[in-house]
Amino acid sequence: MTMSWVVGGLRSSGRARAAGANFLCSGKAVCLRETAPILLRDGWPLAPVSKMATVKCELIKNFTPEEAIHHNKVSIIGTGSVGMACAICILLKGLSDELAFVDVDEDKLKGEIMDLQHGSPFMKMPNIIASKDYHVTANSNLVIITAGARQEKGETRLNLVQRNASILKTIISNITQYSPRCKLIVVSNPVDVLTYVAWKLSKFPKNRIIGSGCNLDTARFRFLIGQRLGIHSESCHGWVLGEHGDSSVPVWSGVNIAGVPLKDLKSDLGNDRNCDQWENVHKEVIASAYEIITMKGYTSWGIGMSIADLVESILKNLRRVHPVSTIIKGFYGINKEVFLSVPCVLGENGITDIIKVNLTPAEEVRLKKSAETLWEIQKELKF
Ligand code: NAD
Repeated sequence: MTMSWVVGGLRSSGRARAAGANFLCSGKAVCLRETAPILLRDGWPLAPVSKMATVKCELIKNFTPEEAIHHNKVSIIGTGSVGMACAICILLKGLSDELAFVDVDEDKLKGEIMDLQHGSPFMKMPNIIASKDYHVTANSNLVIITAGARQEKGETRLNLVQRNASILKTIISNITQYSPRCKLIVVSNPVDVLTYVAWKLSKFPKNRIIGSGCNLDTARFRFLIGQRLGIHSESCHGWVLGEHGDSSVPVWSGVNIAGVPLKDLKSDLGNDRNCDQWENVHKEVIASAYEIITMKGYTSWGIGMSIADLVESILKNLRRVHPVSTIIKGFYGINKEVFLSVPCVLGENGITDIIKVNLTPAEEVRLKKSAETLWEIQKELKF
């Protein structure tokens, strides 16, 4: 049995309708229906004959039938802490015209969507549809995968791998069926390995497969630098590259404020010998996810905002540069099919270019080591 809901008081999308989605106009609370064919008049579902229908007919004179037009549709797979944080950040930035959600846990899915729906009067909320069935995601421009098991207290991201790789199998086959031209952002952990799995399973070209990678690690890095200097993180430039997580590589040579490289002021910046202990900034970046998980059980807000930033670059074709995970084979002497974060140009075609960062020999060694670690895991994976 397939169920789906719509919220927002807006017109349901022609494309999702065509895909068989079942909508109800949301004048009332969430309505739930089985997928029986629903009668549509000029794009709106025909309400059962009732006083409401009469009021509607009295109130509104249809002027012209509307045709479905191209719009930005984003689907989020997994309505856990991360999926819902991504959703709220995308909504607050007004980035999509339609948001679709899929989760295997139907009660959670319905509860989250109802909860969002009730904020509809306070923001220009687009159509929101949700179902266990992937038909609601049909013709998405962008699909964000946040489904899967999360890290337990003290568990490394790499430990999650086989559990989440198996979950991806069903997810990817559904996404490719309903949105064969979408861009995919993988968030579930271990994100670099799962981005590789998503690439293999989907057979999408590499530009349309994006791992959220070190986007969050880099944000944490910039925040912590800002805290040390008393400068807003937006003005603190620096990049964390490589694996999202324990073996990530801080590129100290690139850390600068207003074009002033901090390494010019302290040549041993980021070394253990440094008297200011700047290397602790990166140690804190690595530790912070574990710390947050110990304290609140999961991380959500930082990743939600960082994903909304990627979504903005893609949907608005901004061609901004983000540290996201892409296939790195052929760079920095890496010859295996692994996904690691490097600065990538993101726009409507996904990742179109990567920026060639001059790494120090030591940084390059660390990147290669990450690649080897990931490859050792990938080659054992069954999917
Ligand atoms: P969560 O447990 O709160 O939510 C996961 C959701 O996925 C649940 O609602 C569950 O029902 C759903 N789900 C499970 N299997 C599914 C399937 N086959 N199809 C559809 N939905 C399914 O977990 P969370 O805290 O939201 O974390 C989600 C993932 O994001 C984890 O893997 C976590 O490690 C990862 N994460 C990544 C980053 C990053 O920077 N890349 C940051 C934080 C969390």
